[in-house]
Amino acid sequence: SDHHLIYPPSPDQMDWSSLYPDYVVEGDPMEQNEPSETAADQSLRPVKPKRLSKDVEVADIGCGFGGLTIALAPLMPDTLILGLEIRVSVTQFVEDRIKALRAQNPDTKLYRNAGVLRANTMKFLPNFFKKGQLSKIFICFPDPHFKARKHKQRIVSTTLNSEYAFVMKPGGIVYTITDVPDLHGWMVQHFDAHLSFERVSEEEQEADPCVEVMRTETEEGKKVERNNGQKFVALFRRLEDPSYD
Ligand code: SAM
Repeated sequence: SDHHLIYPPSPDQMDWSSLYPDYVVEGDPMEQNEPSETAADQSLRPVKPKRLSKDVEVADIGCGFGGLTIALAPLMPDTLILGLEIRVSVTQFVEDRIKALRAQNPDTKLYRNAGVLRANTMKFLPNFFKKGQLSKIFICFPDPHFKARKHKQRIVSTTLNSEYAFVMKPGGIVYTITDVPDLHGWMVQHFDAHLSFERVSEEEQEADPCVEVMRTETEEGKKVERNNGQKFVALFRRLEDPSYD
């Protein structure tokens, strides 16, 4: 349950160093002690997280076994990509997968930019990401929660879309894919209705290389393929906030 989830009180207190050790900025001035500080002062001072040379910019929400997070890493070698997953054992599996891939590719930057975190994205997203931090959010084959009384558990909703809007930069893209027509309709309806998003044209969608990766590299996408199922894709652009002057 959520009681065991650890999350930072705010994004600047999040320590990403264990996820992306190759991006840690060494000798960070923030780490240095004040000259007047005693050992006692230091022990009382909250520990400052280590800084990275860049922020996470791509989030794979409900990443499952990590197929997409891992496939995107070599395609965007200079971007930090984060899979978020609520299940403990599945998160651990993805962590081990990333570790193994890094070990298999020594002396390269490969997979150093991929990380995974256990989190309930329905609750703590703004604790991890600052306003306007993300350029891409992937929502791939989210749990459909078919019954009407379970719809509030869907990870696309008016409230959650406002959180996605908050953490995304203008021009950023939300990618959605599902094999459930009703859920596709639901996601389109909720993003279309949200003032911060506009649907991306089909032409632009099909020209985006991430769309093909999302169709073929997610574990769910592969399963749907094996069963000759259909996949419904929709992309939404984060719009500029209106100015009120
Ligand atoms: N995206 C992956 C794919 O396409 O292969 C996995 C899809 S799977 C059907 C949905 C995943 O979302 C599951 O692994 C589930 O544990 C995770 N999930 C559901 N609710 C979540 C939440 N609130 N926060 C984070 N992950 C969640």
